[in-house]
Parts: sequence; C-alpha cells; structure tokens
Amino acid sequence: MSPQQIALFIAAAVSIWVYMDAKKNNYSTQMSIGWMLGVFMLMIVFLPFYLIVRAKRARRPVVSTSCVYCSKDYFGNPNYCPHCGHLVRKV
Ligand SMILES: [Zn+2]
Repeated sequence: MSPQQIALFIAAAVSIWVYMDAKKNNYSTQMSIGWMLGVFMLMIVFLPFYLIVRAKRARRPVVSTSCVYCSKDYFGNPNYCPHCGHLVRKV
C-alpha cells in the first residue's frame, strides 16, 4: 500500500467511526452523514471539532431520577444516592 492509500484507509475508518458514534449520540442520520463527510474530507478540522462537541454533549446533565429512599432528585445513573447513600443502581 502507498502512503496515500494508507491515509485514505485511515480517513475512511475514522469517518465510519464518527458516523456510528454520532448516531449513537442521538444525532439525526443527516447530521451524522454531515459529520462523516466533514471528517473524511477535512479530518484535521472536523475530528477535533467533533470530539469537543461530543464531550460537551456527554457532560450535559441527563434526566433526573428521584431516589426511592429519600425522594430527592439525583442526576445520571450513580450506584448510590448522593443524598442518603442508599444503593439505587438498577441491575
Ligand atoms: Zn436517597
């Protein structure tokens, strides 16, 4: 394989990963394809940009749940209630 072919292969692999990852992160198919094409054509710009946006989305607080023991709300899916310390993670 020539260096160009290797670069193309890596770009294609990363683009496919971005597409699947975007879909997993609730992006629409259109948006996911947009990210994929952006990364494929201009990886140096779009890949860091995608990763930053992705990290920001991941940090956004998820739906709150009320604790069945103390009835206070907590965010995300922790093992223990941050208020009363009871085991709340569903198995
Ligand atoms: Zn609690």
